[in-house]
Amino acid sequence: MKIEIRKWVIRALLLCFVSIISILFLMSFPQILYAKRTQVGNYIIYHENDLNQYFYQRLHNVDSVFRGSELYNDQLKLEICLSDGTAYPTLMKMIWGDAFGWGMNTIATVNGNINFQENTIELHGYKWNFEQLLLHELTHCLQFNALGIMESNPLAKHPQWKWEGYAEYVARQGEVQHSLLKNMERIESARMVDPDEWGVFFEDGTVAPRVYYDYWLMVQYALVVKKMSYLELLKMNLKEEELKKEMMMWYDLKVKN
Ligand SMILES: [Zn+2]
Repeated sequence: MKIEIRKWVIRALLLCFVSIISILFLMSFPQILYAKRTQVGNYIIYHENDLNQYFYQRLHNVDSVFRGSELYNDQLKLEICLSDGTAYPTLMKMIWGDAFGWGMNTIATVNGNINFQENTIELHGYKWNFEQLLLHELTHCLQFNALGIMESNPLAKHPQWKWEGYAEYVARQGEVQHSLLKNMERIESARMVDPDEWGVFFEDGTVAPRVYYDYWLMVQYALVVKKMSYLELLKMNLKEEELKKEMMMWYDLKVKN
């Protein structure tokens, strides 16, 4: 009887081990779950349906912004996984939880209904600017490339405001997103209208979660007003509350003048 139990335990452990290895394998090689692969410059795109002219325009716009970021490396090959009918984003959702996208190592994945012409991706009734979402996830890949897996989140446990805030800072380069003062006014007036709303809406009708929006502004303040580099900010022992307080004092002074 004891031998039988031991056999079952060994079988169950083996099954768990094989399942974990299979999931890690599928996560690392998304091409297994996609019908098509297209290379454009340093980007390899995995997709199910044919890519249209609007996609290429979006990628071109993304690339022009991306090249200006501090951690950009022109030798880095990046993979983009689209959510156009394949199981890969569902697999990522099972592992990491529901989200508009994920960026890890060299793989940027988006999750939702994409409208390339409109430049949006829709999930649960909310629309995110597609180019900016892709830039956000690709920026996480730059962080991995610059710092290494062990020094990147989730393993390194950098404060979320520094990790996500930088991805948002690189991504939010739209015409109406350059001015920190205007960005702060947008969130302050949104809070006055509805203090409990989940997101902040931009002029194009797309959304950013308020928590990410706050992270973005703190990084924008540190990099633009305090003239820090991102790597300096990452290394510096600067508390979220301290920076937020300083930023609000800066904002109050600007508003008064
Ligand atoms: Zn992120």
